[in-house]
Amino acid sequence: MKLSLPLAKGARSVALWLLAAVAALLGMAAAMQLAARAQLEADAEHVALNWAAFARDTVPDLEQAFAGRGFTLEALRQLRRLRQAGEVFRFKLYDPNGATLLVSDEMDRTQQPSGATGEPLGAEPGEQNSSVRAVVLGGGNLIELKREERSDRPAVYSEAYVPVLRGGQVLGVVEVYVDQTARERRIAKAFRQVALAVALVLLTLVAAGAWQWWQRLRTQRRADEQLRYLARHDMLTGALNRASFHEALQRAQKRAQEGGAGFAVLCLDVDGFKDINDAFGHAAGDTVLRATAERLRETVRELDLVARLAGDQFAVLQAGVRSPDEVSVLGQRLAAALAEAHQVAGQALQAGVSVGAAVYGNDGLDSAELLHKAEQALLRAKSHHRGGFSFYDATMDEQLQARRAIARDLRQALYADQLHLNFQPLYERDGCTLQGYEALVRWSHPQRGAIPPSQFIPIAEECGLIEDLGVWVLARACDVASGWPESLSLSVNLSAAQFRQGDELVRMVAASLEAAGLPASRLELEITESLLMGNTEQVVKTLHRLTAMGVRIVMDDFGTGYSSLAYLWRFPFDKVKIDRAFTQHLDSDPKVALIVRSIVSLAHSLNIRVNAEGVETPAQLRSLQAHGCDELQGFLLGRPAPATQLDHAGAPLAANEPKLPRARTDFAPLSTSPAAL
Ligand code: C2E
Ligand code: CA
Ligand code: CA
Repeated sequence: MKLSLPLAKGARSVALWLLAAVAALLGMAAAMQLAARAQLEADAEHVALNWAAFARDTVPDLEQAFAGRGFTLEALRQLRRLRQAGEVFRFKLYDPNGATLLVSDEMDRTQQPSGATGEPLGAEPGEQNSSVRAVVLGGGNLIELKREERSDRPAVYSEAYVPVLRGGQVLGVVEVYVDQTARERRIAKAFRQVALAVALVLLTLVAAGAWQWWQRLRTQRRADEQLRYLARHDMLTGALNRASFHEALQRAQKRAQEGGAGFAVLCLDVDGFKDINDAFGHAAGDTVLRATAERLRETVRELDLVARLAGDQFAVLQAGVRSPDEVSVLGQRLAAALAEAHQVAGQALQAGVSVGAAVYGNDGLDSAELLHKAEQALLRAKSHHRGGFSFYDATMDEQLQARRAIARDLRQALYADQLHLNFQPLYERDGCTLQGYEALVRWSHPQRGAIPPSQFIPIAEECGLIEDLGVWVLARACDVASGWPESLSLSVNLSAAQFRQGDELVRMVAASLEAAGLPASRLELEITESLLMGNTEQVVKTLHRLTAMGVRIVMDDFGTGYSSLAYLWRFPFDKVKIDRAFTQHLDSDPKVALIVRSIVSLAHSLNIRVNAEGVETPAQLRSLQAHGCDELQGFLLGRPAPATQLDHAGAPLAANEPKLPRARTDFAPLSTSPAAL
């Protein structure tokens, strides 16, 4: 890691501190050495002066000896005694001119006093010692500290030249050898202790400084790491962000190009996230996003990466991919992991994901291209069936283009009279008594021909055209219905997206009724349960406003969602419409009959009428009648037809005598596939 400026400064100052401490220690050692030397010299001088004074006072005839007249026997005897006085282990006597008179080592060799001859004992005659001269001439005492490795000398000693004075007059000079080994050891020990204490203090100071610096470094490093993490991750979910995901993709691409393992890009988005956000608020939306990221992370392997690209859009980089099968397995595992509801503030929120994937090698070699293709595969997965998985395929590009073109054209269609309404009859249980019509929007595209609502309504919801479309449908349907016999009702489909308008929707409904002069009691509004997934006060309030006006509320496509039953008690519906998927399988699957019977019985106990959609065969009609459905609708009874072709005549067929339906004007063939419509 590169150190930032303040850190580098910190490191420098700690290094300077350390240098200063080392320099201080070295300086102190040098100073101590000097002090020790001075101390030893002062000591030696003191010992020498004492010795000289003692010798002067105790050695007889010393003046005479210094004057060059030789040593008396008594003098020599006393001087011999003085050879080992305390720390003194040797001495020499000089006359004031520096000539050696006596060397203590040599005293034993010569038994005779030199009295008469004046010949020096153990000294070269005529030798003039310059140190002695200096002492005599008043240059002060001369002390020389010595360290020698000689067997006959101590390890440390001083040679001290001091004068022997009497009455202020220099009699001669003595050179006293003072053994300072023990003294030096004591001084050195004391100094070592002081040095140790000082070193400890310095070391503590430096260590405290270094510790402080290290702490700052760690804090800074942690902050740096956090910054880097934030730059690479999405704050809300902790997943990688778009930029770092792109980088990871590029790295994976490079590895794969260099012969490494293959990889795949999976794009996911949360089904119905907008509804959750609208219905429960952003905090709940955030919780769902966090939980989604968490489940994705739990489902992928450690090598794989999870990113949040935008809003409710996530992506996974699957590493080490050897075959598309592995991608398909992961895609389905991810969808399954998210299929289970999230618990948000005590409520179970359904927020599954759809997954689209593109595989390196199969679908492209460029990471950006793969991401784009995975996004398209996602669109396909969503349009086919929510909570599903899809691979990229080449026709998707065209489909995407087509979707864009439809969105563009729909805008114009609204104002260019390309939309019209068909009306499909709803019958009483007897299958004869006409009850009303459901308005179903149709689009005749000038080039593409008839485009089914299942294709363009989701696009209108996505690109924000649904509000305008809804206004047009309701106004037109009310207008048409106002011309019908008063006993007939009008059902109009509302998209969940229209409820985002809140009060505006209520005003729009009231305005349409008023403009057409249609009583509210003749209008039914069909909504799907996705609207109630988030039972927000806002949506329920809007629904209550509508019922307060006298409009009836119908739950459409009942039974197709995840937890239809749970929504029945949230709002007092007037009617539920059993989805045509049930009607289709009524004859072939005994469980379906059981479900239909249960729905009817539950709805009736709640005072809710039941409509069954998609009645295509007389057998279905009979079963539904037997199960107690109140209202029937389907191609058998009547296809959606333009307003001009409605004759409002009841009884297209009696329950027991099936005939061909009369209205065959709708473009839809007799088929169960909505795509064919
Ligand atoms: P939906 O509300 O469930 O409408 C019933 C759909 O089932 C209609 O398809 C109708 O033509 C079809 N259908 C009716 N009887 C039978 C039958 O016996 N067999 C088969 N196979 N199908 C039958 P359509 O008109 O294509 O509408 C599809 C969906 O588009 C509608 O489903 C509704 O959700 C939506 N939609 C249609 N018109 C509007 C509209 O004006 N506004 C909104 N928001 N949605 C609309
Ligand atoms: Ca409907
Ligand atoms: Ca329906």
